Amino acid sequence: MAKKETEKVDLKELSFSQSVSYYFDKAAPFTKAPNGLLEQIKACNSIYKMNFPVKFGSDVKVIEAYRVQHSHHRMPTKGGIRYSLHVDQDEVMALAALMTYKCAIVDVPFGGAKGGIKISPRNTPPEVLEAVTRRYTTELIKKNFIGPGLDVPAPDYGTGEKEMAIIMDTYMTMKPGDVDGYACVTGKPVSQNGIHGRTEATGRGVVYALAQVCSYKDDMKKLGLEVGLDGKRVIIQGLGNVGFHTANIIKEYGAKVIAIAEMEGAIYNEKGFDAKEVLAHRKATGSILNFPGAKNIKNSSHALELDCDILIPAALEKQITELNAPNIKAKIVAEAANGPVTPAAEAILLKKGVVIIPDIYINAGGVTVSYFEWLKNLSHVRFGRMQKRFEEKAQRNMIDLVESITGQKASRAQIEKVIHGADEIDLVNSGLEDTMIKAYHDIREFYKSEKNLKDLRTAAFAVSINKIKDAYYAMGIFP
Ligand code: NAD
Repeated sequence: MAKKETEKVDLKELSFSQSVSYYFDKAAPFTKAPNGLLEQIKACNSIYKMNFPVKFGSDVKVIEAYRVQHSHHRMPTKGGIRYSLHVDQDEVMALAALMTYKCAIVDVPFGGAKGGIKISPRNTPPEVLEAVTRRYTTELIKKNFIGPGLDVPAPDYGTGEKEMAIIMDTYMTMKPGDVDGYACVTGKPVSQNGIHGRTEATGRGVVYALAQVCSYKDDMKKLGLEVGLDGKRVIIQGLGNVGFHTANIIKEYGAKVIAIAEMEGAIYNEKGFDAKEVLAHRKATGSILNFPGAKNIKNSSHALELDCDILIPAALEKQITELNAPNIKAKIVAEAANGPVTPAAEAILLKKGVVIIPDIYINAGGVTVSYFEWLKNLSHVRFGRMQKRFEEKAQRNMIDLVESITGQKASRAQIEKVIHGADEIDLVNSGLEDTMIKAYHDIREFYKSEKNLKDLRTAAFAVSINKIKDAYYAMGIFP
């Protein structure tokens, strides 16, 4: 039974999906859900494994791919698609389960899902990648595993807006006349019915979350840190979508990214990096190494062990294990990637007093803005289109009124500051910030209210399970 399993687990032996179940079981006793319902929430509802042929030069290659729908307690299901040679069923099941808990935490009304294709996007020609993406989408359509009300994919490791546009195009070709068809996938380019702010949403969400985490005086005092992000020394692993945008945006808050780790090695500079410059250097030279003014670290993983305030793993799962956890010097570990800290490593870090901000909360910015994109596609209107000018006129009237009462003229700079009707990007970022703040508040309040709770991950899982339990109760299925 879910409530008892944690007692006899060898943490070092757990697979990724077993780790997620372990965290679930650890949180279960703090929830009000009966055991039968806990079993239902934890179970993966549908697993679709497929093999299909794709032409590769003069030969044909068999491609292994998955789509897992973890929970149907809310529809559609939602979750990214990963392209990586490490993809297997266990990984996709783990990622799908994390999506269920993540959506619940940030009040995004979807069940969790995930997709994966065992392929290296770096070493596969673009035309083959396109053929694979189209065939994968077709397979999903054949089995009703994709659709605006069924299951809505998004980008993940190794995929981006290009793949999402191909998925949408394939879907619309197969379902002509489906007026809501654009909502079959999110993370599309803005020109292809995407939404402003989705590309950077996960990284932006990570920064909003960290700003909130660092805003509590008592919590920071316990860690020996100052309040706020200003001046914080940050290390980031992975300069892909999530890592790059996190590095870029956290700089605006006054934090310094002192080390960046990538596959080919890591770079260190106490003065801090500009992520855009590092990315440009990587594009030009094929590597982040030899960046002007930086020290090279040949073994990339050694960068995670450098002294810093906040460590942000933003690459892949199982990056901090029982082997390197004893050497981690960060006071806060922010899980921008999914599952970067193993349960065995977590036990070591918690003993050292490290605060771990769990993946199911801190990287939820992506699915939050995907939800906004889905809403935009279903409503067929850009956010802000109806009210922007109206707001600006109302603000202009207010300035006129103040000027007529005071007899003083506002300067051009003052007027420009006040008159600004909300654009789509303003509304998206505002909705994202509010979501990340509220969710952290819920987790922290729960953590503080339960004296036996020892970590934020268990609190986050418990908050999430309670919300899913309420959804089942509302359907009248349980108790
Ligand atoms: P990405 O493919 O855009 O970037 C990942 C980067 O990590 C790549 O540059 C890759 O070279 C690097 N990397 C891989 N292994 C590494 C290693 N051992 N050391 C250092 N760098 C390494 O992927 P992404 O979309 O940024 O996703 C990263 C993580 O964030 C994944 O765990 C993903 O599931 C999670 N995530 C992504 C999103 C999203 O919106 N893209 C949302 C939530 C969570």
